[in-house]
Amino acid sequence: MSRTGQLPSVVFQKSLYIRHSRESGNPCSSRVGYYLLLLILLALPACASDDLTDTERFARQRRSLVAELRAEGIRNEAVLRVVAETPRHLFVPEGLSSVAYGNHPLPIGQGQTISQPYIVAIMTELAIGPRKAARLRTLEIGTGSGYQAAVLAKLVKEVYTIEIIPELADSARQRLKKMGCRNVFVRTGDGYKGWPDKAPFDAIVVTAAPPYIPQDLVRQLARGGRMIVPLGESPDDQNLTLVAKSDTGAVSVLPLLPVRFVPMVHGDTE
Ligand code: SAH
Repeated sequence: MSRTGQLPSVVFQKSLYIRHSRESGNPCSSRVGYYLLLLILLALPACASDDLTDTERFARQRRSLVAELRAEGIRNEAVLRVVAETPRHLFVPEGLSSVAYGNHPLPIGQGQTISQPYIVAIMTELAIGPRKAARLRTLEIGTGSGYQAAVLAKLVKEVYTIEIIPELADSARQRLKKMGCRNVFVRTGDGYKGWPDKAPFDAIVVTAAPPYIPQDLVRQLARGGRMIVPLGESPDDQNLTLVAKSDTGAVSVLPLLPVRFVPMVHGDTE
């Protein structure tokens, strides 16, 4: 961020110097110009190291976040590695980038939030389960900022993600494209209906809370598939729930831990 912000001012000052020394034949003013140039050159490494410091600071913050997630019980090393690599500060509003690596949710506009990193990590871990992640086709409901989709995308084969608020879907799509996540497909729509054309899914991650298990999503879950969903009618009473479909098609439901998500709303955007 700061790198692109600093470049134009250097270019501007350089062109000032050139114009200044060309316009006046006065050796004194060209000496002033010389000192000006010297000053600019001296300032350059400081600018560059500022950029480096930013990058290093975020990387260090990600490492301590990962240590925290490990201490909180996240065991899947691949998930921890991806959290350590994914620039969460680019998924939150610019004014919040300095707090992007705290283990808490943050607002992302439109009254929505990016989930707490621990929740992203545990949902990813649970959705993958004991399987080889690289083979899995996954569906996410509630794209939001696109952070959960980006984390999943580095682990699994494909991520299909649905967002009901068109503005959020558009900005997440652009953000993910810019980051080179080519295996993520974003769609505006009502997640209750799932994405039937692309079903079945080996894993479904629901990141908004429905009051009941959406049956279309259960239907779109592959045999042997796992869906992780924050289930509950009110924000004060939700449980992260694992819905598993056996190889024979039997469905089991296992509430795991109390959570707090924004509600999964019904819409008519298609
Ligand atoms: N996974 C997101 C955070 C999700 S917040 C991230 O990583 O940033 C929950 C999101 O679910 C919100 O953006 C909200 O608009 C969306 N949502 C709510 N109801 C929905 C529905 N029926 N279908 C799709 N998205 C929905």
